[in-house]
Amino acid sequence: MSDKAIPVRVAVRIRPLVPKEITEGSQHFINKVLNQPQVTVKGSSEAFTYDYVFGPDESQTQVYDTAVTKIVGKIFKGYNVTILAYGQTGSGKTFSMGTADTASASSAVLSQNSGIIQRAVKDLFQKMDEDASLTFEINVSFLELYMEKVYDLLSKTRNEEVDIREDPKTGIRINGLNETVVSTWEETLKCLENGSLNRRTGATAMNHQSSRSHAIFTLTINQINKESSSTIKTSKFHLVDLAGSERASKTHAVGERFAEGVNINKGLLSLGNVISALCESNPRHIPYRDSKLTRLLQDSLGGNSHTLMIACVSPADSNYEETLSTLRYADRAR
Ligand code: ADP
Ligand code: MG
Repeated sequence: MSDKAIPVRVAVRIRPLVPKEITEGSQHFINKVLNQPQVTVKGSSEAFTYDYVFGPDESQTQVYDTAVTKIVGKIFKGYNVTILAYGQTGSGKTFSMGTADTASASSAVLSQNSGIIQRAVKDLFQKMDEDASLTFEINVSFLELYMEKVYDLLSKTRNEEVDIREDPKTGIRINGLNETVVSTWEETLKCLENGSLNRRTGATAMNHQSSRSHAIFTLTINQINKESSSTIKTSKFHLVDLAGSERASKTHAVGERFAEGVNINKGLLSLGNVISALCESNPRHIPYRDSKLTRLLQDSLGGNSHTLMIACVSPADSNYEETLSTLRYADRAR
C-alpha cells in the first residue's frame, strides 16, 4: 500500500458490554466477523468492512500494535498524523484515546488500560532516543472545542478562548495558544493531565460537558540536524477525542442543549464530508471551512498527512440505532 493511496484509515472498536447493560439484560447486537475486518449486525446479512475491526476482547495493546504504531512512525518521515475517536457518548472514545487516564503520567510504566495517547507518546520518545543523528524539539498544546468556540486547556487562566488564524505559509495558527515545550514522555503526559483537569467540568466524570466538546491534544515535532542545527522536518500529531455523535433529538434536547447538539453535529458532519471527499479518487473541493473542527485540523487531514479514525461502538442492542449510525459514518469515511 503506498503512502498516498489511502489517506484515511478506519477502525471500528466494539467495547465489551458494561455492567449497566448486563444488568439491563442487553444482548450483543453487533459482532466481529472471525478473522476479517468486518462486522455484522443482528437480523441482517449485510457485513460492513473497514481497515480494522477490534472486538470486545481486544486489548489496548492490540489496538495500538495493530493500527497505531505504524502511523506514529510516519511522523519521523515528516507527515502530519491525526488520530480521531468517534462514537456516541459511552462507546469507548475516552477509554481508547486515554484522554482521562491520568494515572500514567506519574508512573514510569504503562498500565494495561493506558490508551493510545500514553502509548503513542512513549513510543515516540523511545524512537527519538534511538535516533543518534537528530535532536527533537517538541511542544504540546491542548484545546477544547465547544459550541464552535476554541478554549486553551493549557492556559493558566481557565477557559481562555483563542482564535484560529490562517497563515498562507505556515498553515493554521492559533492566536495566543500555549505551547509547552516538553522533553520527556512524563512531561508530555503531565500536560495531558493538567489540561484534562481544565476541561470545563473535568474529564474523568462521565458528564455532559466532556461528552459535548471535542478535545484535541497536539504534539508539534521538529526534527533538528545535530550538526547544522537546522530544522529538517516539522510534523503535527493530533489526538482527538471527539464529542458524542448521538443526535440531539434522541436526548429530547431543547434550548442551549439543542444548540450544543447542532454545533457538535456541524463539526462531525463536516468532518465526515471532509474525510469522504479526501477518499474520492479525484477530490475537487474539500470543505474544510465548514466548521471549526475541520479548520483546526485542515493541515493534518489529507494532503501531507495520515489519519486514523477509530469508530467506537457499544455492542448492546439497546444502542442499535446509534451503533448503526456510527457504522455508516465510518463506512462513508473509508
Ligand atoms: P466515551 O468517551 O465514548 O463517552 P468512555 O470511554 O468513557 O466512552 O467509555 C464508557 C465506559 O465503557 C467506561 O466505563 C469505560 O471504562 C468502558 N469501556 C469503554 N471501552 C472499553 C473497553 N474496550 N474495554 C473495557 N471497558 C471499556
Ligand atoms: Mg468521553
